[in-house]
Amino acid sequence: MSLAIISPGKNSNAWITAIQSLDPALNIQVYPEIKDPEAVEVVFLWNHPEGLLGEFPNLKLISSMGAGVDHILRDKTIDPAIPIVRIVDEKLTWSMTNYVVMAVLNYHRQLSRYQRDKIRKVWDMSNPELEVTIGVMGVGALGYDVMEKLAYMDFPVIGFGFTEKKDFKYPYYPKEDLEGFLKAVNVLVCLLPLTAETENILNSSLFSKCNPGTYLINVARGKHLVEEDLIEALNNGQLSGAMLDVYRTEPLPESHPFWEDPRITLTPHIASVTNPKAASPQLIENMKRVKYNEPLLNLVDRMKGY
Ligand code: NDP
Repeated sequence: MSLAIISPGKNSNAWITAIQSLDPALNIQVYPEIKDPEAVEVVFLWNHPEGLLGEFPNLKLISSMGAGVDHILRDKTIDPAIPIVRIVDEKLTWSMTNYVVMAVLNYHRQLSRYQRDKIRKVWDMSNPELEVTIGVMGVGALGYDVMEKLAYMDFPVIGFGFTEKKDFKYPYYPKEDLEGFLKAVNVLVCLLPLTAETENILNSSLFSKCNPGTYLINVARGKHLVEEDLIEALNNGQLSGAMLDVYRTEPLPESHPFWEDPRITLTPHIASVTNPKAASPQLIENMKRVKYNEPLLNLVDRMKGY
């Protein structure tokens, strides 16, 4: 069995070290230096060139290098019979939760305001804490942990997801009641997967249903957000600010208006980066499982798209 690592433009050395420390005998080929495509039974992917997987006639398993699989499912040439798995690991979750907690606290305790005040030497003790009720869109591996940690800090949290959920630990709205969810919160965290249904979900129609002054945190995918609608919602007061980690075009072009907008805080898609040491054990485990025809870990439902 050979594993092909396919992540154009990224250095794979840390992955090779982590994977070989668990399975020193495993044959690993790294794209574009794949000399023996017939031997490839498992691919480990991030943003592969469309159509490439057709070159591996014995492919049995496709694994995403991250939590998202939109970068795989957009390739319509992939044989639907080949299972797709994704990464769910404690380190990835930990980093994402830390990022969202930071974003919520920066808003709640207004760090940007005090940074601006410092430059102008302003001593303003008014309204030091903003009231927040945090709505988390997507209560899966990442969103649920965000809710747990924020709730532990005594913040009110409300979830929003695809399916009805009985006995969910926190107040929860299914997708049919987006309006009810938006009316109940004033900080909106997007942790949805990117699917046909969720693409462009953060648009002017959604913003018009928010409580005026809602704060947006998008850590999921750039294509969830209609970027010009964000500017419009900031201008008309439906939103008071945003913290963004993901963009429709990455890297964010130099001419993009987000760079200059003081109401928007930016980071360069670093909210939670998969850690090779933490994530490799589940790749190796899934390779074993596919070999022995056992149920796979973190299997993606292709019909749902996540
Ligand atoms: P999961 O698949 O575990 O959870 C997805 C959640 O979204 C589920 O709660 C699901 O609902 C809900 N959902 C799906 N479709 C809809 C819909 N149409 N309407 C409402 N809710 C919906 O995903 P993860 O938590 O592991 O990851 C979420 C996303 O975070 C990834 O897909 C990725 O794009 C992004 N991400 C970003 C990173 C970054 O660094 N910026 C790093 C890692 C991930 P239900 O529970 O009912 O099924």
